[in-house]
Amino acid sequence: MTIWNARIFFSGQAFTDEPCGELRCKPSWLVTVKKPGLVLERKQESMAVSLVGRIARLVRSHHYEPLDPEIIKAYNRTRNRSVSKRVICHAPFKNMYCNITGNVGACWLRFAGPECDPDRYPENSLEEIWRGQRYKRLREHLRHNDLNYKCNVCKDNLYHKHFVTVLARAYDNSYRSRKFPVMMELELDNICNLECVMCNGILSSAIRKNRERLPKVTSAYGKAFVEELDQFIPYLREARFNGGEPFLADINFEVWERMLRKNPRLRIVVATNGTVLTPRVKELLERGRFHINLSIDSIKKDTYEAIRKNAVLEQTMEHIKYFHRYCRQKGTSLVLLLNPMRQNWSEIPDFVRFCNTIDVPVWFNTIYRPYEYALWNLERPFLKEIYEELRRHDFPVISGSGQHSQHNRTIYRTLVEQIETWYKEPLSERDAVKEDILHYDERRTR
Ligand code: SF4
Repeated sequence: MTIWNARIFFSGQAFTDEPCGELRCKPSWLVTVKKPGLVLERKQESMAVSLVGRIARLVRSHHYEPLDPEIIKAYNRTRNRSVSKRVICHAPFKNMYCNITGNVGACWLRFAGPECDPDRYPENSLEEIWRGQRYKRLREHLRHNDLNYKCNVCKDNLYHKHFVTVLARAYDNSYRSRKFPVMMELELDNICNLECVMCNGILSSAIRKNRERLPKVTSAYGKAFVEELDQFIPYLREARFNGGEPFLADINFEVWERMLRKNPRLRIVVATNGTVLTPRVKELLERGRFHINLSIDSIKKDTYEAIRKNAVLEQTMEHIKYFHRYCRQKGTSLVLLLNPMRQNWSEIPDFVRFCNTIDVPVWFNTIYRPYEYALWNLERPFLKEIYEELRRHDFPVISGSGQHSQHNRTIYRTLVEQIETWYKEPLSERDAVKEDILHYDERRTR
């Protein structure tokens, strides 16, 4: 079989995109078959095209560096059975993360690290971003399980076998990718009533005003964004709202109304500090089926109120009771989150016991900054001490009513392992991840 003028070439677009020193980083290779004056039999033509396609795939795959197959296998063993294991990460095929300053990417880590160069809203529309070069390039890398296109943090966690904390896991679900995103994570406003010690003015308007004494952060999102979002809503299967405090932001209410109207089966997840439960919030909740992620950090009054400045423990506990009842009635989830820090690490076992008692899943975020509250940068002997103390605790798996105790035990053990890694192999010696994570806050302010 002859293939006439079958050429594999870089597109002009590929060359005019950002220049890159290494061949494997070149964006999209294109394939074309020309037929100068000769009529090909349809079958021959399609065979030629398919052969050229195969050659192109082969050539392309040589320019990617897939992760070690043994690590992929080990990671896949920990993933949910219902999830496609063809790729390690589904984020660029499914998700759009929009942060307050207008950075848009497949996940928040796309805005982290000195090399990050995210898409920007409103300079580009959401649709342009979704179909744009950065998304395409990331998809191409991840189709080959190559995490070298600015996925350093996930790569590092995979190499260290911290499988539970790999961010890519957040996009493991059974939603099928479609022409628009099926998931969105939205930080549309930084309005917040609290001034938590580990937070900053980009995420809390109160901190911006009272602690940093800086002018208000202008959100990148307004009426035009809400209008544009409309065309995405019917395709969405899940929308996660972060803040600020999402229950204080008017723009969220506008978006929720549209979501409830246009896509009532959409899974809406709200990350709240648990202090805002006004009649407006309750009225909205009653009309929908909201999932709640509530950050609390401690169940001891002194610790809680020292960390979550302006909050009152008794009131938050009352709200937890409400959310607990609400989620049970609606068949949705309530997750309690804790940010392990120097102030509260010793209370973590009690926190897990509390969550087991009320049968609620627990989650731990990782706090990297401020340095003076973070755990990862403590001297090794201190970290060892924390590790030794926390590893003494175990939590029985409660059968029957205790659906979440197994999950909580796994999450707790993962935290203990993470602390163990920090003292055995300090983060400050793991350059790639250190750069990406520790520069994150600076990048958010772009
Ligand atoms: S950083 Fe992680 S979660 Fe984000 S796109 Fe890369 S692999 Fe996926």
